[in-house]
Amino acid sequence: METLQKAETRVYQFGNKTADGNSKMKNLLGGKGANLAEMSALGIPVPPGFTITTEVCTEYNKLGKDAIIELLTEEVEKSINDIESIMGSQFGDSENPLLISVRSGARVSMPGMMDTVLNLGLNDEVIQGLVAKTNNERFAWDSYRRFIQMYGGVVLGMKPHSKDDIDPFEEIMEHLKEKRGIQLDTEFTVQDLQDLVYDFKDAVKKRTGHNFPTDPWEQLWGAITAVFDSWNGNRAVYYRTMNGYPPDWGTAVNVQAMVYGNMGNNSGTGVCFTRDAATGENVFNGEYLINAQGEDVVAGVRTPQQITKLGSQRWADLAQIEESDRVANYPSLEELMPSIYKELKTYQETLENHYRDMQDMEFTIQEGKLWILQTRNGKRTGAAMVKIAIDLLKEGLINEKEALLQIEPNKLDELLHPIFDPVALKTANIIAQGLPASPGAATGQIVFFADEAKMYKNTILTRIETSPEDLEGMNLAKGILTARGGMTSHAAVVARGMGKCCISGAGALKINYKKRTLTVDGKEYHQGDWISLNGSTGNIIEGKVATVEPVLSGEFAELMTLADKYANMEVRANADTPKDAKAALNFGAKGIGLTRTEHMFFEVDRIRAMREMILADTIKGRKHALEELLPMQRSDFEGIFEAMQGLPVTVRLLDPPLHEFVPHQLATQKELAEDMHISLAAVKNKVAELEEFNPMLGHRGCRLGNTYPEITEMQTRAIIEAALNLKAKGIQSKPEIMVPLVGTSNEFLHQESIIRKTADKVFKERKDSIEYLVGTMIEVPRAALIADSIAEHADFFSFGTNDLTQMTFGYSRDDAGKFLSIYLEKGILKEDPFEVLDRQGVGKLVQMATERGKSVKPNLKIGICGEHGGEPSSVEFFHSTGMNYVSCSPFRVPISRVAAAQAAINAEN
Ligand code: PEP
Ligand code: MG
Repeated sequence: METLQKAETRVYQFGNKTADGNSKMKNLLGGKGANLAEMSALGIPVPPGFTITTEVCTEYNKLGKDAIIELLTEEVEKSINDIESIMGSQFGDSENPLLISVRSGARVSMPGMMDTVLNLGLNDEVIQGLVAKTNNERFAWDSYRRFIQMYGGVVLGMKPHSKDDIDPFEEIMEHLKEKRGIQLDTEFTVQDLQDLVYDFKDAVKKRTGHNFPTDPWEQLWGAITAVFDSWNGNRAVYYRTMNGYPPDWGTAVNVQAMVYGNMGNNSGTGVCFTRDAATGENVFNGEYLINAQGEDVVAGVRTPQQITKLGSQRWADLAQIEESDRVANYPSLEELMPSIYKELKTYQETLENHYRDMQDMEFTIQEGKLWILQTRNGKRTGAAMVKIAIDLLKEGLINEKEALLQIEPNKLDELLHPIFDPVALKTANIIAQGLPASPGAATGQIVFFADEAKMYKNTILTRIETSPEDLEGMNLAKGILTARGGMTSHAAVVARGMGKCCISGAGALKINYKKRTLTVDGKEYHQGDWISLNGSTGNIIEGKVATVEPVLSGEFAELMTLADKYANMEVRANADTPKDAKAALNFGAKGIGLTRTEHMFFEVDRIRAMREMILADTIKGRKHALEELLPMQRSDFEGIFEAMQGLPVTVRLLDPPLHEFVPHQLATQKELAEDMHISLAAVKNKVAELEEFNPMLGHRGCRLGNTYPEITEMQTRAIIEAALNLKAKGIQSKPEIMVPLVGTSNEFLHQESIIRKTADKVFKERKDSIEYLVGTMIEVPRAALIADSIAEHADFFSFGTNDLTQMTFGYSRDDAGKFLSIYLEKGILKEDPFEVLDRQGVGKLVQMATERGKSVKPNLKIGICGEHGGEPSSVEFFHSTGMNYVSCSPFRVPISRVAAAQAAINAEN
């Protein structure tokens, strides 16, 4: 066991306009704790409290409960004392009780993934104090029953584990409602609530064998350790794995004085944003509920009201509510509590100016006093992210580099994908409307349960409301639709974070989980029926709707110009067709880093000639088939070179194992035999001959060109002739011919010699010439090790990090799926190395090959064309090695441009 270090600070206090920590200490205090400290020091009214550090979570996992309580006792007792003196009340006191909340808080926000306990410190004596102090019996007993329910679920393990499990507390409540003939929680009388408290305690005794703990200190330690445990709960582990957050980050625990939004009509609670999280528009907005606790706003049981008058009017417009009805029944906070609104507005301005980013804040009003519970940089859609960064830059709040660093490159993806075709929308049958919670277009088949989200290829997860248990299904679904909940409901917040289309609070929908039906206006829809969601308007549409390419905003273009100003590395695209090349150019690619020529052979008329080439027994037969392929390849290259308007295009010679091209089904084998006038047996023999035990390590890459030089000759001729044909038309092109899978210098030399001889021959025939380069992929570990000797001959290197990862780890690209997910779950691997470049191993080879290559040829051009070229953290690494460019799929070009700029800026800092 490790030695215990008692002297370390494990607890950081905040409140009363002072704090031990600050917002820079997120790794230690978690996002929530760091921000509470910062806010307190800024003079914002936060309920006083303290944060137990994330390091304690890791200690807890090693040392266990008893040891950690011993380590913390002194500091926690002192901190509780301090809260007591700020609030003027005592923890566990039966006359003037202090109640507290215990919440998780990791260094990044993980909404709803971990546990919280509220109203802690209540027992049968303390409740009397709360009743007396608040003079509100109903509120006090309601808090008590909520506390037992929450504590029972979180600390005593009484939460339901599957959708068939029944929540014992909900069951008791439902039973009582039935008995009393009521429907809502708010209809319970004081006596009902008291009965519930005793029934809940009985249920605890029955289920756990122990009495519900009455000692507030026992309650507190139970809650603190349960929050630490929730870091390793299923939901948190899934969320962490999905986002690549390592297990050793841990969560902090925030303990704070409770403040109540449910103490009558001069109390309330809400969530607000300093700008619009969906569009980025610079308007203060949010939702609140009078006489409610925080979870009531996100749970979506009551319809929340808007904070600003403008927001309220816009909401009423969408919901088709008359102005008089709005003012009477759904007034904004601005109208209902003007002075509280004014105070809140001042704080939101202070906080946005202080953090220089859009803030997402939670607040509670307790009997006319405003408390800010939390602030954090708000989650936002891709579109809002771009608009907010550029607006903040123009407003002078941040500089260009900060604007770029505010961008989460992967989120740009959302802006590049299709939206509904406006023409198709004109005839669309809108069946209902909900709140436009997360923009975008989604078409799919209805499913009603999260664990059924992969039942069809495209699904719309349709729920009354969602909860953190639904996360995996929400991730798999194309869109999310809920009947309840506002713009800050669980569904809305999570969907925006995922960049997934979502409509929430569509009250017209009647969902029956048992029958798996959705009824709107008397019409019934079933599981498997198609619907479409327009997350930007809130329209729910019957059937499928066609989509079109999106138009990029002015702010997007401004961002891209900024990115290019700061990036040192260029971004190219991997493109195999003129259409892809044009898309790449549109997204700002500075060339093509990889054209996989084999993709050109799979079209119907070409595959026949390709098969003929493969099945030929003689050079003559092979050459005959290659002659048929030549004009097709040449015209492909002409198309791509022309699309790229003189920018460099790297064309890779044939790479995959030949068996990928031959037919494996009897019917197509018969067709081929007839076509080629040979016997079926001959075709079958050849197919069998081509079969390999390890095709990825077999007859592929330059091993093909070296055994069948005529393939290299044909491809070189096609490339050079295409460039010459364009030159004749006055169009420039810059071909770079790339040899795949080189492992020895001779493999490269043999290919280079064929390429150069063929090019010279074509130049002579055409009495004209063009400039071209001959380079190699570095994707076999041996090539990285002998990169200096290869560089003596090659004009450029392009790292094929897909194969390099495969061969360095020894993980088959085709089969690794079977064990990688388990490795990730168990933490054996932190990330999938085929997605995020493994800096420690594969990265070392990349670094070494770059250094060795440049040691013989200082100006050697170096790039990377594996999948990692479109992954931001890998792009950062490539920048650090001094590469000239990264190449990625066309849709990831903007992402890599921003990632390249961020890498350059971060390297400077
Ligand atoms: C690579 O191996 O990284 C690469 C780009 O080539 P391919 O994926 O075609 O094998
Ligand atoms: Mg490869």
